Amino acid sequence: MKTPALARKLLLLLLLCVALPAGLGSAAEPGPGFGSAALLHGLWTPAELVGTEADRVIGPVTAPDLSLPPDFPADLSPDLLASLTLPPVPPELRGVIRRIHVRGGRKVAALTFDLCERANNVAGYDNRIINLLRARGVKATFFAGGKWMRSHPEKAMQLMADLRFELGSHTWTHGNLALMDAAEIRAQMQPTQVQYALLRQELARRAEQRGLGAQMAQVPRALPFMRLPYGRSSALALEELAQSGYPAIQWDVEGERDEEVHSPASIARTDLALIRPGSIVLMHANAVPEKTFEVLTRVLSGLQRRGYELVTVGELLRLGRPEAVADGYFSEPGDNLQYDAIFPGKGTLKPDPTRPYTTVPVP
Ligand SMILES: [Zn+2]
Repeated sequence: MKTPALARKLLLLLLLCVALPAGLGSAAEPGPGFGSAALLHGLWTPAELVGTEADRVIGPVTAPDLSLPPDFPADLSPDLLASLTLPPVPPELRGVIRRIHVRGGRKVAALTFDLCERANNVAGYDNRIINLLRARGVKATFFAGGKWMRSHPEKAMQLMADLRFELGSHTWTHGNLALMDAAEIRAQMQPTQVQYALLRQELARRAEQRGLGAQMAQVPRALPFMRLPYGRSSALALEELAQSGYPAIQWDVEGERDEEVHSPASIARTDLALIRPGSIVLMHANAVPEKTFEVLTRVLSGLQRRGYELVTVGELLRLGRPEAVADGYFSEPGDNLQYDAIFPGKGTLKPDPTRPYTTVPVP
């Protein structure tokens, strides 16, 4: 009966090879890689993690869903609620952060993927993108809408359990914070944090059942920063976010720029020309832009050739001094003002499908 034993050993070796980081990631770091693999692969089968084409389906535009997380906030223990109260943002992390001036010019950059979802649609999850990042051992940061986390709970928990990834807030229903008062901004931020905490509770319950409870120490208790929907901000919004403990993390490279008119190869060439040490790259992982996967494939190869290391935003923030501006934008100041008029409900709604966009949207 030597053959099955040998086969088992080979399979174990293969699984370890798959679980280990490779390529652009941190192949030399043993601890986090194994922690990541233990929690992620202890709770889901490979097939469940890979997902299916159905994950990418974008739901129809329907009547707005204005409900909040279940039992918000009564379901949370006082201890948990206290843990969600973040200290104010320190002065050096205020403003709209576009990139980091990395000490020593080290070739590091952060890929970020927004998971946008408005009150009247379901935005999906592009499993090809996450599968590619996992296969290449690439670290990444996801800015998840609160309502998106609620409508995609398994995917959200898989991202949380993968310690190579990091999550930030993208507001509850993609609110345009430049159009909102302080109370409306809090109504976008707090339920998102609560939804994350509810999913983390569920993740902890499952981890405990499998004897993996200790792994939860590596899953952050709260979303540590946020991304402004549409890149739109105001002095009031930035002050409210700073007081609530959310640095606003934007980008200096719009990774899917003008995807309607350019090929993936052309977009990737532009990205690679723009990415410099300390860059933060904006992409989406919810199949809203259509060419992200093909662009990403090329960008990853190009960055590897150029000797770049990809890190999470949290790691990048510790490597140097942020470059911040007062107003968010995509590629040039003012290039996002049009979105104030395109998306109704202060940015929280997809337009009526019978009244299509007057310009091409970049959510
Ligand atoms: Zn968005």
